[in-house]
Amino acid sequence: MPTTAPRQPFHIVGAGPAGLAAALTVARAGERAIVYEQRPDVGGRFHGDLQGIENWTTRGDVLEELDALGISPRFDARPFREGIFFDPAGREYRYASSDPLFYIVRRGASAGTLDSSLKQQAFEAGVEIRFREPCARLPDGGIVAGGPRAADAIAVGYVFETDRADGAFAALSERLAPKGYAYLLVCGGRGTVASCLFEDFHNEREYLERAVEFFRQRAGLSMRNPVRFGGVANILVPKTARQGSILFVGEAAGFQDALWGFGIRIGMLSGHLAARALLDRRPESYDRAWRARLGGLLRTSIVNRYAFARMGDSGYAKLMRGIARCRDGRRWLAGHYAPCWSKTMLLPIARRVVRSRRTAPGCPDPECVCTWCRVRHAPAREASCLLRPRDPRWDSRLDARSPLSLRNPG
Ligand SMILES: Cc1cc2nc3c(=O)[nH]c(=O)nc-3n(C[C@H](O)[C@H](O)[C@H](O)COP(=O)(O)OP(=O)(O)OC[C@H]3O[C@@H](n4cnc5c(N)ncnc54)[C@H](O)[C@@H]3O)c2cc1C
Repeated sequence: MPTTAPRQPFHIVGAGPAGLAAALTVARAGERAIVYEQRPDVGGRFHGDLQGIENWTTRGDVLEELDALGISPRFDARPFREGIFFDPAGREYRYASSDPLFYIVRRGASAGTLDSSLKQQAFEAGVEIRFREPCARLPDGGIVAGGPRAADAIAVGYVFETDRADGAFAALSERLAPKGYAYLLVCGGRGTVASCLFEDFHNEREYLERAVEFFRQRAGLSMRNPVRFGGVANILVPKTARQGSILFVGEAAGFQDALWGFGIRIGMLSGHLAARALLDRRPESYDRAWRARLGGLLRTSIVNRYAFARMGDSGYAKLMRGIARCRDGRRWLAGHYAPCWSKTMLLPIARRVVRSRRTAPGCPDPECVCTWCRVRHAPAREASCLLRPRDPRWDSRLDARSPLSLRNPG
């Protein structure tokens, strides 16, 4: 009787949205996927915080797009068709659209979160997830979905319970979030308030407390059982996201919306594309695939970030008045994120200026536990540092330990 050779599994490092999207793609194609996750469960980087999956970069709906890729939107996802923005003077602008602007989801390991739903779907599809198993090598190739490798932006905030009605609020002001924005999301009795900083990271506490006070006064924020959290975003448009047969996806590749940090959708799409390339036994096709689907969006977001960081308070106010004149907020956002000739012209300058901050110094205090310092010191302790692209801007001490590296990443 002819014997069939056992199927070789596809190896994936990291059980975040990017890694699990890749694993689901592999499993739905009838192949074996093994996911290595260093933490005891999914969503360990998050704290039950509310996040938005953006729905403005395509004409079609994001949840339908994911569904078509085999990622069923079975997680708790609430469509939001309007949001309130505040300018630096506290003036209020309402942006609305007949279609959802974004879907609010919860992150973390508890029931109903994006992460636990992806895990459940992966199990049902036959994916093997090896928790508490950090992976530092992929000798047979595979997918690296290990999340951010540096802090180019940080978000600090509180998650809490509340009786306040659902709502989404953002404030642009250098006092609340330098070069970034402060936000308040409330959905189903839970809330998240945060300051998302692109500068002056060490003063995170001060900005957060100002943001809390601002939303208390302007948006009726009331918190029960608040719990603090902090996290980072890593932004880079790499020249290649491939090292031989190892493909980098999600924030491990630096794939992130550089303007405002909406990385979930980009992460899942890149995970899917990488898995498709490996399933087709053509890892070299991955760079072409992500550039075609995500390249324009990533490059435009770098130019948007460059422009936004130069606006200052008066520029934010003008920007908001401009958006307010547009009847449909979703359409305005779609246009803002779409590649166009003027943004293409600005790209070389923007790329030079919007650089990863991986070499920025830490606080003078070696014991400092601000988000920036924690992230800077963490890789030396965590196995995750072993899987990362080679980039001279990274700490050479850590690079020397890296058996896997992406040449020419950005
Ligand atoms: C506070 C905050 C708010 C945000 N809000 C939004 C939002 O509203 N909308 C949005 O779209 N995006 C948001 N983002 C960004 C979004 O969360 C990320 O872009 C997204 O989670 C990236 O997914 P990923 O799969 O690439 O990485 P991650 O979600 O970080 O997952 C990586 C996983 O890999 C594991 N891992 C790492 N190294 C190893 C290793 N060596 N071995 C085994 N396992 C490893 C990690 O433990 C982790 O579980 C936010 C981020 C933060 C921090």
